Amino acid sequence: MSHTAELIAVGTELLLGNIANTDAQMISQGLSQLGINVYYHTVVGDNPQRVRQAVDIARGRADILITTGGLGPTCDDLTKVAVAQAFGKELVYHEPSAQRIRERFAQRGTPVTENNFQQAMVPEGCTVLDNDWGTAPGVAFQAGGTHVLMLPGPPRECAMMFRHRALPYLQKLSDGVIASRTVKTFGIGESAAEALLRDLMNALHNPTLAPYAKPTGTELRITAHAPTREEALRLIAPVEEQVKAILGDKVIGVDVDSLEEVCFALLKDRGLTVGTAESCTGGLLAKLLTDLPGSSAVFRGGVVSYTNGVKAGLLGVPQDLLDRYGAVSPQVAEAMARGAKASLGCDIALSTTGVAGPDADDRGNPIGLVYLGLAWGDQCRVTEFRAGPVERERVRRQAAQTALDLLRRHLTGLD
Ligand code: ATP
Repeated sequence: MSHTAELIAVGTELLLGNIANTDAQMISQGLSQLGINVYYHTVVGDNPQRVRQAVDIARGRADILITTGGLGPTCDDLTKVAVAQAFGKELVYHEPSAQRIRERFAQRGTPVTENNFQQAMVPEGCTVLDNDWGTAPGVAFQAGGTHVLMLPGPPRECAMMFRHRALPYLQKLSDGVIASRTVKTFGIGESAAEALLRDLMNALHNPTLAPYAKPTGTELRITAHAPTREEALRLIAPVEEQVKAILGDKVIGVDVDSLEEVCFALLKDRGLTVGTAESCTGGLLAKLLTDLPGSSAVFRGGVVSYTNGVKAGLLGVPQDLLDRYGAVSPQVAEAMARGAKASLGCDIALSTTGVAGPDADDRGNPIGLVYLGLAWGDQCRVTEFRAGPVERERVRRQAAQTALDLLRRHLTGLD
């Protein structure tokens, strides 16, 4: 039987725009992986009548209701009272939760005030979801055909409680298991990917195939429902192969996090090192390559050669090239990559030089024009990349990602 969940976030600070509803984002992602539909997110302030109203509306259109926030010890923490009333339940004192609260305060060495024990009041007959990451326990119960789960608001607590307490509870509600695999791509937009995959997507029922646009590339999630995980993965395998065949060299991997992770693994596997010479990306490429633990095995170092003086002085870019073609030119991108390779002693060097904006450069090069160099052995290839007239941050991010994709292509012989 398929389930529909609705999320109710309680907190006036969410309505005031002081914070974003990141708990809902995290929970919705988890529910979609379980194959549970989510049609509505509600945000409601710390007001008992309006929380009650939100619950009454939600239970009319969903059979799983998940609340976040309002479980703490202060007087605006009213979620449990309002939800218990909506389902005709009394709140009862839960001694094991009270004991956990006492122990937590003792560990911190701070005295426990009486209002903290409000958190140990739970709806009668509920399952208490122990909170190992904070003081307020979560709760779960079923009433009138609705499953209700209440989780604390602080995002880290909420994430841990969702993963370790709510998910196992929800998994038991579904017959069988849901498994998914995500094919990650680079250099193809969501609509272009969908156009190529539309026939396949329409023909599928189990598994299903859905595209997701992410800032770092389009993802294709294949999700199957089966009695066991092994069977679900068996259903996914042929579809995964079809998706890979259709999208070809745009696919960077399956169930991988990022291009930098893919490049790191390829470099390590081949025993090669990389270095960077960056102008418009200002060190972002080096940051991405060093985000992963253990990156010193493959990353030699980088030069942020933002000015012409540093390009000439540290990387040995001939002044003549800078004068004749300007810093944003294929000639300078090549000289930067070759210079970095020689001075950093790496097997492969990447360079970036371009116009991040907000204005075109003094030679009339448009915003978003970037030259990317890749030097190896005694060779070098320069690629022109055009991000278009987008904001500075996006030009830089896309240029760094594209440089990583050039590295991936080079390492896998895709050039
Ligand atoms: P506490 O024990 O800290 O009072 P709580 O369960 O009562 O926890 P709230 O008091 O509603 O939760 O919120 C605590 C903090 O958690 C808020 O100040 C806010 O920073 C964060 N928070 C609450 N709800 C959300 C949400 N939906 N998304 C992101 N952050 C949230």
